[in-house]
Amino acid sequence: MHQPQRILIVEDEQRLAALVADYLKAAGYQVDQLHTGETVLDWVRTHRPDLILLDLMLPGKDGLTLCREIRAEPGEPGRLPVIMTTARVEEIDRLIGLELGADDYVCKPYSPRELVARVKAVLRRSAGPPVFDALGAGTADGVVAVDPFTLDPDALRVQAQGRAIELTAVEFALLATLYAAPGRIFSRERLMDRIYTDRRIVADRTIDSHIKKLRRRLEDLLPGRELVHSVYGVGYRYEDRGEE
Ligand code: CA
Repeated sequence: MHQPQRILIVEDEQRLAALVADYLKAAGYQVDQLHTGETVLDWVRTHRPDLILLDLMLPGKDGLTLCREIRAEPGEPGRLPVIMTTARVEEIDRLIGLELGADDYVCKPYSPRELVARVKAVLRRSAGPPVFDALGAGTADGVVAVDPFTLDPDALRVQAQGRAIELTAVEFALLATLYAAPGRIFSRERLMDRIYTDRRIVADRTIDSHIKKLRRRLEDLLPGRELVHSVYGVGYRYEDRGEE
């Protein structure tokens, strides 16, 4: 029997938490709830959920601090997919700017059905982007090695020249999409389609912000080698012009 994926809802509005829990259970997930911030980190360390829905405004410890703390955890807990929920749409831009490393942001009020779709999308991405099939270079364990990188979708790890970095699920999916089709220009729209199943609430800036972070990470890995290029007014493309 396939083990159901486990989702932690952190939400102080208990009726909302219960409603979302019902929808997620109906979709086949195992669901747990916490209504304050203090115990979240310990709970995550002990129970290792597959995804966390994290409210921004919480008694005890807020979602912002928690997201940072989770990302600072070593190993698996630090890569736990996080969907941040907030009551203010203006807040989302600010949160993205803070680079917390959340995988998605959802604005309240949301429809529980839509939230379930976002959960599914984030879990699918964190399981490894389907784009790897298109690369045709995958080995049995899903690892892809095409110069200059070795990409491991299970670990969200990218290696080059003996160094390794770990990306967020979104950054990894972006890199994999661009890198699977070198030279092809992807509009922000295309990239958003690739990354988000429901884009109504996601701003264009989201992609720019993730690309910015991805570039910075790649710069750590291969300094001075520009790989992800902006095409002014259009979007982005991957092009390796070798070492400059
Ligand atoms: Ca709240």
